Amino acid sequence: MDRTMPSRRRLLQGAAAGAAAAALGPLTASPARAAGYPVTHWIPASTSNYTVSNRPASYPIDYVVIHVTQETFQDAMRIFQNPSRKVSSHFMVASGDGYIGQFVRQKDIAWHAGNWDYNTRSIGIEHEGWVDDPSWFTDVMYRESAQLTAAVCDAFGIPKDRQHIIGHSQVPGATHTDPGPNWNWTKYMNYVRAAV
Ligand SMILES: [Zn+2]
Repeated sequence: MDRTMPSRRRLLQGAAAGAAAAALGPLTASPARAAGYPVTHWIPASTSNYTVSNRPASYPIDYVVIHVTQETFQDAMRIFQNPSRKVSSHFMVASGDGYIGQFVRQKDIAWHAGNWDYNTRSIGIEHEGWVDDPSWFTDVMYRESAQLTAAVCDAFGIPKDRQHIIGHSQVPGATHTDPGPNWNWTKYMNYVRAAV
């Protein structure tokens, strides 16, 4: 496991370069809503791994669902790009430097929650790491993710509370335990509420 991840950074810059012109457009249906978002990098998931939609017209966006990958950033990225895997997330935040990849447009329905109703009404954010190893949950990852979550909440009118910013384990019927007991919700929510 390469926690400094120089190869990942080069890989992602290469992957994102061809899509640079699209980097702002996919963020939200309305570019004006992009205010407050941290820098994100458009790395599209396979079109076999999400559902095209027109949110929030088609479905209201009521939740942000917080995940931990149980994979490295690179491996999770390859999973999102593999049409046979049938899984995706709107965003993923890297442990080492808080780098944010966007894989699915927010108007579209990423397949991350394991619950169709919650998928239709949420934005999924993956975090690089493992639930049983808190060393992956770096301050820079918390800060960048919190800035992103705050911007999503502002864009879609989602309250910045734990009833609407939830862990994958809180999704009804969830078989996943992420982000797990090592995820510092107090710190995270403080950062979300402090974000401007
Ligand atoms: Zn999850």
